[in-house]
Amino acid sequence: MTTTHPFLRLFSRYLREQGLPITHQREAVAQTVFSSTDHLSVEDIEGCLREDGERIGKATIYRTLDLLVNSKLVEEHDFGEGFKRYEHRLSRQPVHEHLICLECGKVTEFRSEEVEHVESRVASEYGFAPSRHRLEIYGLCRNCRSAGVELPTTGISCPIDSV
Ligand SMILES: [Zn+2]
Ligand SMILES: [Zn+2]
Repeated sequence: MTTTHPFLRLFSRYLREQGLPITHQREAVAQTVFSSTDHLSVEDIEGCLREDGERIGKATIYRTLDLLVNSKLVEEHDFGEGFKRYEHRLSRQPVHEHLICLECGKVTEFRSEEVEHVESRVASEYGFAPSRHRLEIYGLCRNCRSAGVELPTTGISCPIDSV
């Protein structure tokens, strides 16, 4: 907690605008999310905070994450794992898609111009003004595949949902 992340200033401003106190705990949770390029679960965030010597309860972490999501600085993902993951939205790649490994839970980001073209082509075809899209591809990552893991042959679904 030596350097102040620029996004932390944006978050402080958001809290001020909402009339909410800027507490050390809220700043610590925000700093953890902003310092990571990963898609963090609440457990991950709790672990990072503990490593930094912060003792912050889960309830506070959840409440702060809600504020971060409402502030539009952080995006919430539900990859169907039974818990949510969080990543800050002002990362190096503002637009990216996700590959989610069903075996180890690894989330890989990729960027595709083709996907972006599909978005604008479909949008103009339907006279639709797009604001964002989401593409999630579920399967097995390279590591899990080389470890011999195989996809189940029955009951597999490929939930690609676009919003
Ligand atoms: Zn994997
Ligand atoms: Zn991502």
